[in-house]
Amino acid sequence: MRYWGYLMAKLAAAAMLMGVLWSLIRWVFFRDSGQNPFAHDLGYTSAMMLFFLASAGLLYLIVWDQRYRCRTCLRRLRMPMTAGSWPNMLLFGQPRTEYICLYGHGTLKVPEVQITGPNGPDWEPHDQDIWKELESLEESKR
Ligand SMILES: [Zn+2]
Repeated sequence: MRYWGYLMAKLAAAAMLMGVLWSLIRWVFFRDSGQNPFAHDLGYTSAMMLFFLASAGLLYLIVWDQRYRCRTCLRRLRMPMTAGSWPNMLLFGQPRTEYICLYGHGTLKVPEVQITGPNGPDWEPHDQDIWKELESLEESKR
């Protein structure tokens, strides 16, 4: 819930920023004439093209940033580690990059191989008690 709320907040902030930019462009080019100069005025059409590219780039950056955030605490995921193996996929699994939340909330596995179409990244939340796994190893040694 918090994760999607943060995405909505970022999108709303970006929409407000681009709205201000849109108003500024319209104010600069519509000040003296009431007609829409799109495709008639090179300056205005170029400004609209740059505005569109900036909007698309901003949207891409927002989605890219959101993918690499912890689903619980919203911090950036850290410590990328390659796992799996290209020549030994059947033995060690498909090659992937794993990111973790430094506070132990979960692991994001981003696959490097897209054999069966585009695979989205896989988020696995961790148990709240991070010592449980180590304690179970200790139990098995006794
Ligand atoms: Zn976290």
